[in-house]
Amino acid sequence: MKRTDYDAVVIGGGFYGCTIALFLREHFGSVLLLEREKDLLTRASLVNQARVHNGYHYPRSFVTALRSFVNFPQFVKDYGDCLDSSFEQYYAIAAAQSKTNALQFLRVFSNLGIPVRPARAAVKRLFSRGLVEDVFLTTEYAFDAVGLRRRLSFEMERARIEVRLGCGAEKVVPRPSGQLELDLDNGAAVCARRVYNCTYSGINRLLRSSGLPLLPMKHELAEIALVQPPPEIEGLGITVMDGPFFSTMPFPARSMYSFSHVRYTPHTSWRDDDSQPAAAPAPDAVRTNFPFMLRDAARYVPCLKDTLYAGSLFDTKTVLLKNESNDGRPILFREHHGLENLYVIMGGKIDNIYDILHILEGRQARATGAVQ
Ligand SMILES: Cc1cc2nc3c(=O)[nH]c(=O)nc-3n(C[C@H](O)[C@H](O)[C@H](O)COP(=O)(O)OP(=O)(O)OC[C@H]3O[C@@H](n4cnc5c(N)ncnc54)[C@H](O)[C@@H]3O)c2cc1C
Repeated sequence: MKRTDYDAVVIGGGFYGCTIALFLREHFGSVLLLEREKDLLTRASLVNQARVHNGYHYPRSFVTALRSFVNFPQFVKDYGDCLDSSFEQYYAIAAAQSKTNALQFLRVFSNLGIPVRPARAAVKRLFSRGLVEDVFLTTEYAFDAVGLRRRLSFEMERARIEVRLGCGAEKVVPRPSGQLELDLDNGAAVCARRVYNCTYSGINRLLRSSGLPLLPMKHELAEIALVQPPPEIEGLGITVMDGPFFSTMPFPARSMYSFSHVRYTPHTSWRDDDSQPAAAPAPDAVRTNFPFMLRDAARYVPCLKDTLYAGSLFDTKTVLLKNESNDGRPILFREHHGLENLYVIMGGKIDNIYDILHILEGRQARATGAVQ
């Protein structure tokens, strides 16, 4: 007979749910993690650019840049064995249509103490001179989502966290006892003193089916193309900033490169707060935008025309509506959201996990009286 009563249940087995489950297990006797898919970290935690941000992506959002810079060394320390740090990451500033110019880029990061160096002459020559104002060498790595999955699975097993794969939560219901009941998609139910909704693009779906207030989020069906780069690009990562441009960089989970484009990676978008929300289109029904990505990128870096396409990953990218204006990607942390002891948590980037853990530690210290 499976257990039905837990101190804490985490819904969602992405990077956030797994890490939060490990944190909770340090404080509670019984923790259950529910994941709808057949394995952990198969959704947004896998289908992304795999960039361990160090601030450079956010020249117009001081707070996000600084938080990334602060979290970067911690992530590298904790997950060094799940990273590719062997390549050189270059940020190029487009000469036209960029919201930041090269001087601003240099100034912002120099002022923040985030390392930016001039690119080698051989690397600069890869870029079309008229279209790119300048190119900078930065310090940024790529994470391996498969390595993270292996690490987190091992750590959860060692911590004796129960993990149920292929098991979705359909609804959260309050019980007269003060506990929360979770109705599962296999017809069963479990109870917990506290429930953590860490389902990223699925957050509002669960809130809606539970009759709880929705959160202001926007979703995009995003395409990450997987490619074999031309020999000139091997060992390099390239990001052209700051507007409708592109990136290509190592994607360790598949031993390939990812290719994405600000204009062509999002296929369609929708909002949960619409009275009649649009359903996410099935990725199988979507045709790749890679030819458009490549055609535009090769204008900036001509040798990219020899990039070989291997396929695409599709998933939903979710952002908080209030941050669209400054391209910030902060965290969502809602406590007692519509129900006592229901937590809703989302991080816009992998490294934001430390901002969340910081809040959870503070709550825990207060609850146990360690902090007044
Ligand atoms: C296209 C794209 C590019 C990105 N690029 C980067 C990048 O380069 N660097 C970076 O740091 N971040 C990037 N991000 C953001 C990053 O991927 C996310 O911040 C992070 O993966 C969120 O982790 P998560 O665990 O919250 O979400 P997920 O990994 O999506 O985990 C949520 C889990 O919940 C499960 N689930 C959903 N509903 C239920 C339910 N009802 N019951 C049970 N389980 C459920 C899902 O199956 C899923 O496994 C990118 C995101 C996208 C989409």
